Amino acid sequence: MNDKQPIYILPESTERTIGKDAQRNNILAAKLVSDAVKTTLGPKGMDKMLVDGVGDITVTNDGITILEKMEMEHPAAKMMVEISKTQEEEVGDGTTTAVMLAGKLLENAEKLLDMKIHPTIITKGYNLASEKAKEFLEESSISVNENKNEILKKIVTTAMTGKGAETVKERFSEIIVNAVNQIQEGNNIDLNNIKIIKDKSNGINDTRLIRGVVIDKERVSIDMPSKINNPKIILFSEALELKNPDETKISISNPNQLQEFMDREENMLKEMVYKIKAINANVIFCQKGIDDVVQYYLAKEGIYACRRVAKSDMENLARATGAKIMSKLNEISEEDLGKAEIVEEVKHGEDPMTYIQGCENPKALTILIHGGSNHVMDEMERALKDGLGDVASVIKDGRIVPGAGAIEVELSKKLKEFSNSLPGREQLAVQEFANALEFIPVTLAENAGLDPIDILTELKAKHDQGEKNAGINIFTNKIEDAFEKGIIEPAKIKKQAISSSSEVAVMILRIDDVLASKSSGKGGMPAGMPMGGYPGME
Ligand code: ADP
Ligand code: MG
Repeated sequence: MNDKQPIYILPESTERTIGKDAQRNNILAAKLVSDAVKTTLGPKGMDKMLVDGVGDITVTNDGITILEKMEMEHPAAKMMVEISKTQEEEVGDGTTTAVMLAGKLLENAEKLLDMKIHPTIITKGYNLASEKAKEFLEESSISVNENKNEILKKIVTTAMTGKGAETVKERFSEIIVNAVNQIQEGNNIDLNNIKIIKDKSNGINDTRLIRGVVIDKERVSIDMPSKINNPKIILFSEALELKNPDETKISISNPNQLQEFMDREENMLKEMVYKIKAINANVIFCQKGIDDVVQYYLAKEGIYACRRVAKSDMENLARATGAKIMSKLNEISEEDLGKAEIVEEVKHGEDPMTYIQGCENPKALTILIHGGSNHVMDEMERALKDGLGDVASVIKDGRIVPGAGAIEVELSKKLKEFSNSLPGREQLAVQEFANALEFIPVTLAENAGLDPIDILTELKAKHDQGEKNAGINIFTNKIEDAFEKGIIEPAKIKKQAISSSSEVAVMILRIDDVLASKSSGKGGMPAGMPMGGYPGME
């Protein structure tokens, strides 16, 4: 055998990076992702304007939205984006924090790698630190018992600060706390009960909570009543039309026959309306179209009808009013009808909407966002969702922590104390984990134009003196007790951020071989990132 002959085990098109290169490349990508969101952190965080391929604009301060819109292609960057998705799904807020922590954990790991510490030691130390940090978090958190609603409102206010929802945060916190209280069932909160819809009219201050469902549809004919009290509602998934008129072949030999045919058709359509009338229904939401003739007779009978109602709205209406979604008119009986107090067409902006209020199921709620532009309303929606997630998680888990970087400094302090009990190199990894947590207060300060080193030193000194809740209040630019100042966050957000950031950091650190099939994308190159070229990569 000729041992000079190279042996190929991979297809020629596979791009392979191994060992140190693979690791550094991944760390760099993760760091860039973290850098991309860090300027948005906290009350003085800036917004980002993202413009997509077709020129659509999003202006946001929301970590996950930024990352999703950036459409990153580097595999490690994608893993970072996954953290913010998990964070969003699990707790609904804290996405920026989670991504920043992961980025910093990896950046700090690089220092250890430079000191020739093996990745397995680093990952062991990080896993340990993550477990310990969660224990310390549990110890440092307190439970909400008294003044629950007041505290919940403060949590929402904390979540909304700096989100462009600044001016309406009082109103929003009122709405959110009311809404969540209404859908709460013991410890169970199903946020699916709260629908958020947007109506481009008035200002964001007119945003409100409606006890019921709002659908973005008007009645099909202005001859129908615009308001029905004590509605009996049909949800119909098919069209109120005659089926496939194109396929019907008719041969007509004299004018009478044509008339007869048309009469028959009209009678069939009229029959539909009589069936609806016969079961005493006076509102129908139809998922498909409604024939003009049917519309005419519905109006004549004083029935309110909407057509082409979205499937999700139909399902929502079913849950809210107790109606069954039916597909055959013949099979509908009175038990299948839904109930509410009022169905009404309301017009604020250009397009009227239908409000179904006082539904049989009191948990069906809608938050109707008003505002002058879609960009503003979209950002309000994200802020509302963060707030809803926070309140739900505090109600479920009952524990809160001080914000403004206070909890991070406290956890960092405790981890450093703990690290002293560890042998050699693992100790260094736990210390780097502790240092990474300080990235949060440092960035809060930096984003507010304060000197991060001064602030961090002062914060650490206060915590060493036992002031566990000392944080950097970005409104006063002073170190203050975050609980006293109402800067409060759910413990669960921080717990999730620690878990997911350390998991992904560990996962990325364990990779020492990247095999990228060229056809699978850009061969591991972080294309789609907005900050131009990548140092050290060709
Ligand atoms: P995330 O996506 O991680 O939730 P945010 O941009 O919402 O990021 O910022 C949350 C951070 O801002 C938290 O660490 C929170 O404690 C902090 N924060 C909120 N209000 C204040 C305040 N008044 N002073 C200082 N920090 C604050
Ligand atoms: Mg937030």
